[in-house]
Amino acid sequence: MEVYSGHINKLIEELSGLPGIGIKSAQRLAFHLINMPAERVESLSKAMVDAKQNVKYCSNCFTLTDDELCPICKSAKRDKETIMVVENTRDMAAYEKTGKYEGVYHVLHGAISPMLGIGPKDIKIKELMTRLQKEVKEVIIATNSNLEGETTAMYISKLIKPSGIKVSRIASGVPVGGDLEYIDEITLLRALEGRTEL
Ligand code: ZN
Repeated sequence: MEVYSGHINKLIEELSGLPGIGIKSAQRLAFHLINMPAERVESLSKAMVDAKQNVKYCSNCFTLTDDELCPICKSAKRDKETIMVVENTRDMAAYEKTGKYEGVYHVLHGAISPMLGIGPKDIKIKELMTRLQKEVKEVIIATNSNLEGETTAMYISKLIKPSGIKVSRIASGVPVGGDLEYIDEITLLRALEGRTEL
């Protein structure tokens, strides 16, 4: 006999499909949602649908944004000749939180991983190369320091080198395999300031 109703089971199943949510957490969230006021549940589901429908890639740096250009690419205060390459929008947010970086970003949306079958064409490398046709002084590669991040950094630096544009890599003070978003701001700043030319 099923313990929960069909609707609850469906909700638990959907929630447990989210990253980091096991079956126990999914059950707890499902019962929490059912006990929430109806208007809060509606507001939550509307926020999810609205975000999915309206969030798109910035046409310049490919971060997730509501407009054609993200606020950073739009800002006249940012140094457009320095591009920091990151794996995803969360990593970009981590560097933004330091408040000390004045350049712009390029979001790859992944890293090269032969094991997972992710090649250079599957991430936004071609788009980065297109941006380099404008005036660019330095490309700072801030991909993660795991195997995929290092592979991606090497690949990109080899592509850019012939153009004569300065390519640097953030210092390896960032723990190996560490997800950039979990690293504190001081460590990130140190990694940025201690970057070395490739
Ligand atoms: Zn942008």
